[in-house]
Amino acid sequence: MSSHYERLAAMNKAHVWHPFTQMKDYNNSDPLIIERGEGVMLYDVQGRAYYDGFSSVWLNVHGHNVPELNQAITDQLGRVAHSTLLGMANVPAIELAAKLAQIAPAGLTKVFYSDSGATGVEIAIKMAFQYWYNRGQSSKTGFITMNQAYHGDTIGAVSVGAIPLYHDVFRPMLFPAHTIPYPYAYRHEGGAAAAMEDTLDALRDVLEQRADEIAALIVEPMVQGAGGIILMPPGCLREIASLCRKYGVLLIADEVATGFGRAGEMFACDHEQVSPDLLVIGKGLTGGYLPVAATLATGDIFDAFYAEYEEQKTFFHGHSFTGNPLGCAAALASLDLMQKRNLIEEGKGKAVFIRQKLEALAGRPHIGEVRQLGFMIGIELVKDKRTREAFSWKDRIGVRVSQRARELGMLTRPLGNVVVFMPPLASTEEQLDAMIHILIRSIVDIT
Ligand code: PLP
Repeated sequence: MSSHYERLAAMNKAHVWHPFTQMKDYNNSDPLIIERGEGVMLYDVQGRAYYDGFSSVWLNVHGHNVPELNQAITDQLGRVAHSTLLGMANVPAIELAAKLAQIAPAGLTKVFYSDSGATGVEIAIKMAFQYWYNRGQSSKTGFITMNQAYHGDTIGAVSVGAIPLYHDVFRPMLFPAHTIPYPYAYRHEGGAAAAMEDTLDALRDVLEQRADEIAALIVEPMVQGAGGIILMPPGCLREIASLCRKYGVLLIADEVATGFGRAGEMFACDHEQVSPDLLVIGKGLTGGYLPVAATLATGDIFDAFYAEYEEQKTFFHGHSFTGNPLGCAAALASLDLMQKRNLIEEGKGKAVFIRQKLEALAGRPHIGEVRQLGFMIGIELVKDKRTREAFSWKDRIGVRVSQRARELGMLTRPLGNVVVFMPPLASTEEQLDAMIHILIRSIVDIT
């Protein structure tokens, strides 16, 4: 008789098509099937325990199965699981919007809900576009993005995406965007200062020539996530923001990955006191519990849509589950818990702890660069440390390190040759120590 695991594995193989996964590889491997979670641990159906070393794709804040979040969702479940936000409201959605307006960078007072980071980005793109249209400046239709940008997988988000492997195949069906270089210091001959100068020069060029055709610039502030956990040189975000302001182009900050303490402050924009016109949040908003995202807008943006019904300036956009009460209740409880546990401030000390522990990697032969901002860590592995020659795609170096980490009891997912470490913010130093031990051992064993 086949085991519970074997039955599930067979059904999984027969019916589930996994995201961002080459199914031929996957179907020839033993699938990991998670059954439950507790704190920073996940357990598979065979009872094996794993540290959640990538916060279930960068979103878990407090760990799994958190009593306070469970309780908030259960309480809300006893009232109503869902009702629409189209022309009516629900209690948690109102309370959460007020809370977000309070903690977000200055001026972002209006909250438009959605259900994933990508839909939050679609909303920001459409809002920016219609903002200019409603204001009678309908030539401002273009967007600026950055090399290696990732903003999600829906068509608008892919249009402003710039990772060739993910996005090029779709190019013929997308709207074109102006792509400027991202300041990738490690891969720039002149280092951080020169990389930043190139970025700002390119931005200035586009803006000087075409500002009247451009609606907005979209950026992952301070850290480019899926592009390889690449840190912006200090001051760069502030310069980008001030150029956008100077030339009358809206700034969209995509904080889906960086928000809610992940990059060391509540929002990555807080590092440089930047207040964007539109802010996209998701992932950690609910502590990583439920699919809620939001696009925050300034009063100025909101006012461009605020008109007589007959003028047809309405933002005609919405999703069935927009403002879902269960999700909003989870988000409120998560923010409450962040505050009670002082997670952002305590996280700063833990980030230093992580940095010190990772110093053990510095002298090793295939470590190109260890990059970190807060709880976002990327370790770029290189074939040749001196010349910085990259491993080839065929080496599968990141995948092999992740596989080794899984054998040793920690889950993570690489970005090409970059090993990713993104533990839940609530991890204790003891847990971080154990996770880093596995991380280092996996890298040493494979390289
Ligand atoms: N934007 C950024 C910066 C992201 O990192 C991601 C996901 O990783 C997204 C958008 C898309 O979010 P979602 O996967 O919730 O659609």
